[in-house]
Amino acid sequence: MVQGSCFCGTVRYQASGPFDSMISCHCSMCRKHHGAAFATYVATPLDGFRWVQGEDALLRYQSSPHSARNSCSVCGSTVPTVLEAHALAVLPAGALEGELGIRPQAHIFVGSKAPWYTITDDLPQHCENPPEFATPGLSRPEIKARPGITEGSCLCGAVAYEAAGDALFMQNCHCLRCRRARGAAHGTNLFYKDTQFRWLRGGEWVGEYKLPEARFYTTAFCRQCGAAVPRVSSDRGIVVIPAGGLDTDPPLRPQRHIFTHHKAAWFEITDPLPQFADAPPAI
Ligand SMILES: [Zn+2]
Ligand SMILES: [Zn+2]
Ligand SMILES: [Zn+2]
Repeated sequence: MVQGSCFCGTVRYQASGPFDSMISCHCSMCRKHHGAAFATYVATPLDGFRWVQGEDALLRYQSSPHSARNSCSVCGSTVPTVLEAHALAVLPAGALEGELGIRPQAHIFVGSKAPWYTITDDLPQHCENPPEFATPGLSRPEIKARPGITEGSCLCGAVAYEAAGDALFMQNCHCLRCRRARGAAHGTNLFYKDTQFRWLRGGEWVGEYKLPEARFYTTAFCRQCGAAVPRVSSDRGIVVIPAGGLDTDPPLRPQRHIFTHHKAAWFEITDPLPQFADAPPAI
């Protein structure tokens, strides 16, 4: 039995498998929803899936005529989507605990991949959707060019933002908090000073959830679509931008992996970036 939970613990679920499909999707919708470089999903038969708690707290967003995406309405974490027509539940793998008995099998929609992310493993790559998935392909989103400006938005478009000038740093975080909040293998965050950042629209749609026991860790999300959006931390004078939401090519590339000691068992780091088992050295 595999268990999963959102970041705040309101939504919990379990699945008994069997798990025979595990795919990493690079489409812009998945990237925006999760706020991550890509989203990895495990499909499971619906009859072995159940919501343990929090089904009434789901935020459901119809992202296309064919699919809806679920988030926790309290913390914005990506949570499973139920596909009744296919008798399947699709689980965001980053939030799962327990041995799946399966590893990622392929990358899909690499034609829409983030320009700042390089795939370094040797799994098969499909430009759009492999033939066994019946959903229609998505067009490649246009990457805007705005020299000196990094711009991003949520999945529904209600929230948009920009940051000006040089970024401070960019890193991949494998901690359980990031994995639950993003529902992905790892978070990838871009950091700026808060004075470099502004909301272009939709600031009133931004929901936040701070973990009671955490010193700083707070998630920010669009309350309409559940997508990860930047978190402005005025205490620290920084803004943390979930890189999956970016609409422009940022000035940095991921520089390191942190909290690799807490990495998902099914995810293998195959790039040459420096790895830190726990917190990174002081910036
Ligand atoms: Zn939650
Ligand atoms: Zn996708
Ligand atoms: Zn939105």
